[in-house]
Amino acid sequence: MPTQKNVLIVGAGLSGCTIARSLAEANVQCTVIDRRSHIAGNTFDFENQFGIKQHKYGPHLFHTSNHKVVEFLSRFTDWTPYKHKVKAQLADGKLVTLPINLETKEIVGADNCVEIFIRPYSEKMWGMPLESIDPQIINRVPMRDDLNEYYFPNDSFQALPAQGYTRMTEVMLDHSNISVHLETEFNHEMMTEFDHIFHSGSIDEFLKFKFGPLPYRSIKFHNVNMPVAQMYPVSVVNFTDHGKFTRVVEWKNLPKHGANETHTTLTFEEPCDYSQNNFERYYPVKDISGTYKKLYDRYKIFVSENHPNITFCGRLGLYAYLDMHQAVSSSLKLSDAWMQANLNER
Ligand SMILES: Cc1cc2nc3c(=O)[nH]c(=O)nc-3n(C[C@H](O)[C@H](O)[C@H](O)COP(=O)(O)OP(=O)(O)OC[C@H]3O[C@@H](n4cnc5c(N)ncnc54)[C@H](O)[C@@H]3O)c2cc1C
Repeated sequence: MPTQKNVLIVGAGLSGCTIARSLAEANVQCTVIDRRSHIAGNTFDFENQFGIKQHKYGPHLFHTSNHKVVEFLSRFTDWTPYKHKVKAQLADGKLVTLPINLETKEIVGADNCVEIFIRPYSEKMWGMPLESIDPQIINRVPMRDDLNEYYFPNDSFQALPAQGYTRMTEVMLDHSNISVHLETEFNHEMMTEFDHIFHSGSIDEFLKFKFGPLPYRSIKFHNVNMPVAQMYPVSVVNFTDHGKFTRVVEWKNLPKHGANETHTTLTFEEPCDYSQNNFERYYPVKDISGTYKKLYDRYKIFVSENHPNITFCGRLGLYAYLDMHQAVSSSLKLSDAWMQANLNER
């Protein structure tokens, strides 16, 4: 009988859970650690004192056309269908549809769209003038010539896990070959104890910022409970002013997120540098000249030359903005490749 491989997975987010589950099913012993006190990473959700479900790190809308990812996750959750709609609040308080569609253009004038919707939001979000932001990021904001109101018009599968993301990841980790240790920080001594490490944390932190820090944008979440049944017609409203908040989320407007008839919970999002938010890393910074991508590549090369037993993965480990389906897809590929190379009996 071949000896059972022993793998450490740093991070209990969607990437770590996907890798742990895939390896565990191939009879690999998986130890999952996370420095936070909960699993699910940034998808963590919970019910507040008003019976309203909140996503602690911003609203997470699952959308994809990747059937393999849907098939994989559907083993751990049922789904509540949900097609996301977003509104933007104009200076006079009026709400218009985002992404900009034909109706929105007619209301504000096509020539004004960049200054009203894109400049203030993007400058607050990235903390730099629009002209310095990588155009790839701006191009993620589509403009339409029809009346379609949906935020993700092209994805064939759009839904929320029926019992939430926390429950879904709990089921993913529920396997006899997986042990989970929360409030556990990775340390370099752990490297000797395992055959391999999948690390979904930051590569610069792992190398003690040897080549300098990789910057991130972060978000401060300001939660407000209001003694009214409902404030907005949709779950997300973007602000078009130059104030500090980019958007507000009204949680109960998401399906099965609470039916409280007297109270609603809102979360206002205030972007900031990660150093102003307890070093919570959310969005890798992409500047127009690609400086940070080059810095990341330098770290990546150093790791592959000096630490062949570590695979960096996930949103932080790859220093890439990954949606949930991309995090799952990329983690499935990484764990498959590792199993092909390391499990001879397969
Ligand atoms: C505000 C916001 C909104 C988003 N909305 C959407 C959305 O609507 N739809 C969508 O598809 N995607 C969305 N995403 C992206 C989604 O959050 C990611 O795709 C997903 O969380 C990636 O999972 P991950 O496991 O790679 O990373 P994470 O969820 O960040 O998990 C990494 C985990 O590793 C742990 N960790 C890191 N370093 C260490 C260490 N040294 N020791 C121990 N533990 C460590 C962290 O504590 C964390 O729990 C959003 C992201 C943000 C920030």
